[in-house]
Amino acid sequence: MSIYVQKYGGTSVGSPERIHAVAERVARFRAAGHDVVVVVSAMSGETNRLTELAEQVGGAARPREMDMLLSSGEQVTIALLAMALADRGWSARSFLGSQVSITTDSNHTKARIEHIDTDALRDCLANGVIPVVAGFQGVDPSGEITTLGRGGSDTTAVALAAALTVDECQIYTDVDGVYTTDPRVVANARRLRSVTFEEMLELASLGSKVLHPRSVEFAGKYNVALRVLSSFEDGEGTLITTEESTMERPVVSGIAFTRDEAKLTLVGVPDVPGVASRILGPVGKDGIEIDMIVQNVGADGTTDFTFTVKKADFKRAEEILSQVCETLKAKRVIADSDIAKVSVVGVGMRSHAGVATAMFDALAAENINIQVISTSEIKISVVVAERYLELAVRSIHDAFGLTEEPISED
Ligand code: ADP
Ligand code: ASP
Ligand code: MG
Repeated sequence: MSIYVQKYGGTSVGSPERIHAVAERVARFRAAGHDVVVVVSAMSGETNRLTELAEQVGGAARPREMDMLLSSGEQVTIALLAMALADRGWSARSFLGSQVSITTDSNHTKARIEHIDTDALRDCLANGVIPVVAGFQGVDPSGEITTLGRGGSDTTAVALAAALTVDECQIYTDVDGVYTTDPRVVANARRLRSVTFEEMLELASLGSKVLHPRSVEFAGKYNVALRVLSSFEDGEGTLITTEESTMERPVVSGIAFTRDEAKLTLVGVPDVPGVASRILGPVGKDGIEIDMIVQNVGADGTTDFTFTVKKADFKRAEEILSQVCETLKAKRVIADSDIAKVSVVGVGMRSHAGVATAMFDALAAENINIQVISTSEIKISVVVAERYLELAVRSIHDAFGLTEEPISED
């Protein structure tokens, strides 16, 4: 008997009708003779609603209480789906993360899964019961509820799939697969039949929220067959695979973007050894993650130093940088949160030159100024003003001909 983990996201379980539709799909799989472990998210909008409530009572900075609050969204959907399955005559049982148990570290609001006990789930399957597990949540060694970071239900699903060694982990969502870029921004984006773990990890980490980055990391590490599909219609979706096509792959597979970063520049820093560490040291010490970094060549004995951080850390980073500005006797701090990062990703870049030029040409043709650039072996990222984001993504998508089916996909 084959085993599947099926994860249904917020829109897929966003109303009683949708929960019935999901129950119908799960029941179809069971009726076809497969074992299914279901993972669900909170109903769409619920985690945002709870976050706003926390903000209104000044609690958003209390990570333990945030986890207590946010984990309640998934508690609702597991019960509703188990009821809808029972209503169809299937035996089903809902599980909180702690009841499975999914053990994480104690890093509230961004915990990492450390261990999964599969006994309770295996027991269910052996007795013909469909387990319905709350995504996004776990429990730390001292019994505290934790959550895995926004979008983390994907990671719950893949981690369960790895622990149970299933045939396939299916992520059901509101689009019918992974596209060359977000189809809500580029209407003629194309669904990919397959994408490599390496590319998907870059796309997810650089902002394509269709999969939580940790879920892709897990799937790659434990070799979980991972597929993204629509819960609204039937189709083959997109398979995330280790295999690169034997035929030539397109140079660029996809474009990711994020509005979630902000840029800080320290102007007129003395251009002497040790400056980078004296600027970034205090920022890092505060637990703030730094993404892109640029240091210009100084002409008059001073230089400008720019870096980007997550928007959530922007205010704090600005405060720290103002203190550094005084200590280093730099000229001033420029802080800009109206930026966006656009990245092109593709394993084909390894063997092709000129990708950066093509990307920069596309932006130049639209008169879009590039503020920061960073590259790695399989990606190029640029920072542009936030108001140009959609235009930038569309023009790069066109420039690389991503709408057309490449001859390379078999
Ligand atoms: P769920 O609630 O099911 O987890 P998400 O909203 O987290 O769904 O992720 C699905 C959304 O991801 C899509 O609605 C789409 O707008 C967005 N998205 C971003 N980049 C891509 C991409 N490259 N391919 C498909 N969807 C993408
Ligand atoms: N409900 C959580 C969120 O909205 C987790 C998830 O949906 O994956 O981020
Ligand atoms: Mg999601």
